[in-house]
Amino acid sequence: MSTADITPTLPSSSDPASVDPRLPRTGRRKDGSRHVVHIGDVPFGGEPFVVIAGPCAVESAEMISRAAERVGSLGANVLRGGAFKPRTSPYSFQGLGMPGIELLQKASRDHGLPFVTEVLSESDVEAMAERVDAFQIGARNMQNFALLEAVGRTGRPVVLKRNFGATPTEWLLAAEHVARAGSDKIILCERGIRSFGDETRFTLDLAGAMWAQDESRLPVIVDPSHAIGLPHLLKRAAAATLAAGLDGLMVEVHPDPSQARCDADQALTPDDFEALMAHLQRFTVERPLLAP
Ligand code: PEP
Ligand code: MN
Repeated sequence: MSTADITPTLPSSSDPASVDPRLPRTGRRKDGSRHVVHIGDVPFGGEPFVVIAGPCAVESAEMISRAAERVGSLGANVLRGGAFKPRTSPYSFQGLGMPGIELLQKASRDHGLPFVTEVLSESDVEAMAERVDAFQIGARNMQNFALLEAVGRTGRPVVLKRNFGATPTEWLLAAEHVARAGSDKIILCERGIRSFGDETRFTLDLAGAMWAQDESRLPVIVDPSHAIGLPHLLKRAAAATLAAGLDGLMVEVHPDPSQARCDADQALTPDDFEALMAHLQRFTVERPLLAP
């Protein structure tokens, strides 16, 4: 066997203007031009700062409808909510599954907000692709390459969360897997990494997110809910995200956090979310919020 047979070839570049040869489809372009990625009609990576909000999990028709109504009326641009939940314990609420996707579709239609929801398994990708406005790849699946490729093949938009043990470079390479499979509609989402100390749930790596934004052509957003886990710190983390020049925010908001079946301690109430949006407005001199 010749070495040519066993040496992995570098990807043939779909874009010779990419600065990093490892990232021909997602890396920074030499001319600095960036990708604008739409979820529904909502643009990420353009001038306005974009807000995704909603509960950790879809719990019932009534609950997701109330959540969509509240966050939409308070200025969110995109609804979030998990129907398939990656839970650390197999005995925790695992989500409603496909019926939950249908509830998201209805809440989304009724309240005029496109939605993003997590896909856990390759076997659900095809059915979900017809129903969702965007897939979320969760932190725990950032390097599930078969799932990345299956989602990429659908050509649908993808919110790709960073794994809590992954470097920013590994995160960008994961995005390249999705793009190579067929979808370059990728939004990177920083959601906290493991360091030491448990005062905050994870460690929000704002610098890693800024680095990823500079080294890629993709929009980068921040999820301070999972990164920090403490509702009272989210307003300032959101403002820092905006001030850092990042492209948007994902936050967990529950109509009644005391009743939440998942991540109850970190969810904002609708009133907290209203305060967060008001706080963000104070930092919009250079970058406006996308109007709801
Ligand atoms: C979530 O968004 O609800 C979630 C499970 O996030 P992560 O994958 O970042 O833990
Ligand atoms: Mn959650």
